[in-house]
Amino acid sequence: MTTTLITGATRGLGHETARRLVAAGHTVWIGARDPERGRAVAAGLGARHVALDVLDDDSVAAAAATVAAAGGLDVLVNNAGIAGARRPVSETSPEDVRHVFETNVFGVVRVLQAFLPLLERSPAPVVVNVSSGMGSLAITTDPERLESGIVGLAYPSSKAALNMLTTQYAKAYPALRINAVDPGYTSTEFNGHRGWKPVEQGAEVIVRMASIGAGGPTGAYVDEDGPIPW
Ligand code: NAP
Repeated sequence: MTTTLITGATRGLGHETARRLVAAGHTVWIGARDPERGRAVAAGLGARHVALDVLDDDSVAAAAATVAAAGGLDVLVNNAGIAGARRPVSETSPEDVRHVFETNVFGVVRVLQAFLPLLERSPAPVVVNVSSGMGSLAITTDPERLESGIVGLAYPSSKAALNMLTTQYAKAYPALRINAVDPGYTSTEFNGHRGWKPVEQGAEVIVRMASIGAGGPTGAYVDEDGPIPW
């Protein structure tokens, strides 16, 4: 039995990933900063729930203790993320950038720090970092790609940092499979449902990379069609 924790699983891509992994037979923990929502979502999906705010050391430590006491963890999906205010570059302050990094970058480090000891005890430990094509230097400078037309400081740089965290953690923990994924522009509250992919399609690559097991790749960056350039 594979036990999986998904951060920010109350809605959007995290929720759909949870639904799919429950159907695939995983024991799924819904990580939710609002415990009531977490409880309701978990009940609807046949999952477990744990209070988890990626910004809060005590919350993350308590979540790790809860998951450890229930038997441990095999798969961690670092999905919780924010877009931040969409401001022109000239109006973006250091505080705007820091705000997004707190969740998308430092939150992931906080969660990994707490859960890596549990993952190291799994026979097939897997981490999926939910990144974005907006975090790719290659994609955001390719005029053929939609992402090259979007200009912003906070979110793209946070996902670029997450990509680097992914390769560095992958090197530091060779026994784990640690990868970054780009779900693509997906209709969720994150973008006011402007994304053109349905959530079932966006979650596909997250589900696939959460299911790779011990024989899968590590230090990779993939979308639904396979590896993508950093
Ligand atoms: P979403 O619908 O806005 O969901 C984001 C989830 O993250 C929510 O459950 C939210 O919880 C949670 N969250 C935010 N801050 C948190 C915190 N401090 N602690 C715990 N949970 C927190 O967004 P989504 O589209 O599903 O995005 C999921 C991931 O995919 C993000 O990392 C995003 O960057 C990435 N992504 C999305 C797209 C896209 O087009 N949608 C494309 C590429 C990458 P609350 O309900 O409590 O706010």
